[in-house]
Amino acid sequence: MPNESPQSQQPRNPTRAVRIGTVTIGGGQPVVVQSMCATRTSDVAATVAQVENLVATGAGVVRIAVDSSADARALAEIRERTGANLSVDLQENYRVAAEVAPWVDKIRYNPGHLYHHERHLPWADKVRFLVDTASAHDCALRVGVNCGSVDPAQREQFAADDWLSPMLASAVEHCALLDRLGFTRYCVSLKDSDPRKVVAVNRRFAAERPDVPLHLGVTEAGMPPEGIRKTQAALEQLLVRGIGDTIRVSLTVPFARKQEEIAAGKQILADAAAGRFLGALAQIDGGLNIISCPSCSRVENEAFIELAEQVRQLTRALGDQPITIAVMGCRVNGPGETDHADLGLWCGPTTVNLKRGSTRLGAFSYTAILPRLQEELERLVKSKADGGRRTADGGASPNVESLMSKE
Ligand code: SF4
Repeated sequence: MPNESPQSQQPRNPTRAVRIGTVTIGGGQPVVVQSMCATRTSDVAATVAQVENLVATGAGVVRIAVDSSADARALAEIRERTGANLSVDLQENYRVAAEVAPWVDKIRYNPGHLYHHERHLPWADKVRFLVDTASAHDCALRVGVNCGSVDPAQREQFAADDWLSPMLASAVEHCALLDRLGFTRYCVSLKDSDPRKVVAVNRRFAAERPDVPLHLGVTEAGMPPEGIRKTQAALEQLLVRGIGDTIRVSLTVPFARKQEEIAAGKQILADAAAGRFLGALAQIDGGLNIISCPSCSRVENEAFIELAEQVRQLTRALGDQPITIAVMGCRVNGPGETDHADLGLWCGPTTVNLKRGSTRLGAFSYTAILPRLQEELERLVKSKADGGRRTADGGASPNVESLMSKE
């Protein structure tokens, strides 16, 4: 599959070329737009249909979540039915990589998740296993560092309010190990739900490892149009500096509209190429902020998408109140990735878990959650009016330059 996106001739960082199936990222190649399936991986027909739909819209790579041997078996069937460049998203169970590698072109692992299984083994041994597996099956790797699941060993090394340095250190540490192992067919991503942090941490990484291709994205950007605006505000700041080799726009949309992620990604690249910049990074500061995940096969109740929209409706009246609400689709990432919001919701099969900061308030049915959320919102607004401003970081929102300086 060719790199088909419209591209600028802006100078690009001198990243090395990394092949993912028939597409190449880095090495001066056009930036590749990618997305992820939201269908259940075990539903082969629905997943193949979504893969093909994304490819038809312009996806150069399509990611699929695999958490079990059943998902891995489904992936073998999916591979038979599509020629798309497939990436697999591993979570806790890194050993599933051996079952899926024959059927995919890239494996994404999260350094923070390597601690969850086989805790007695050093993480470096697990990376060696992934490298051996990827090498044996002609796969690339992505070191996917995420704000909600940072390597706990790195977390301990830095101040409690410095979330970017542990992310950066984790990525750099994994790159160094991969290099020592002689495996150079990898890229890195450093994602956060705050566009300013995405800009800051990726600029810092690119300055330290300009040779490593970067996959850019704002995680849990939320619903369009706000989710697209947040993503564009961050990515344009990076693309204009020659940073970024592949992008994903993570939007909370119904499964059937997943191709909107690709259309949005292509538009962001086209705008950057034409010099049309949103320049909105400084404006994304302090007001009402709803972060919600783009959903994937781990969603246990599709009512999650509707719930995210209902939360948006419910909070419209809040206007510019400096409140962050996180709405997550599953128990895998939901608990960790709601910790930094004022109020967090993460969805299970029949109930929605509500949190205030990192404090769990209980689980409520899908019908009971909105009135309960309303109560908490009223309490929060009152406490903020009383002078208790609290942001996701426990202080005033930082700007990019102050984040850049925390090295
Ligand atoms: S929070 Fe869960 S459902 Fe949402 S994208 Fe992340 S892993 Fe998938």
